[in-house]
Amino acid sequence: MKGVLEGEESVTLDLLRHKMAEFAKERDWEQFHSPRNLLLALVGEVGELSEIFQWKGEVPKGLPDWGEEEKEHLGEELSDVLLYLVRLSDICGIDLGKAALRKIELNALKYPAGPCKCSSKKHKNNNNGKKNNDSEG
Ligand SMILES: [Mg+2]
Repeated sequence: MKGVLEGEESVTLDLLRHKMAEFAKERDWEQFHSPRNLLLALVGEVGELSEIFQWKGEVPKGLPDWGEEEKEHLGEELSDVLLYLVRLSDICGIDLGKAALRKIELNALKYPAGPCKCSSKKHKNNNNGKKNNDSEG
């Protein structure tokens, strides 16, 4: 892992976006990076990430029983997911950082800390009558 980060003081979404665009351009892969293709690649990588946890049951935070090789593999698959997400957002003209910050604000309004504290259940009164199937989205 050392060497990859030399010269990089901090990793930002914008840095990753630039590096992914450069990577694709150098290989003339821009022609393949349509929103649909990138979405399908992202889903494939989520599958690869899921395989790492498949059949393990619940694992404790920090993964104390995992070996270095397994953790490195996990980091690679998490990165694949992030990089395709960053690339998909870029190709779609979405500023992912700003969109994510906005979504956190919207979630905070939807799930105020007081009524939602220590509960994984939906706070029905904050959904404006809309059905909600996800935990934070
Ligand atoms: Mg992968």
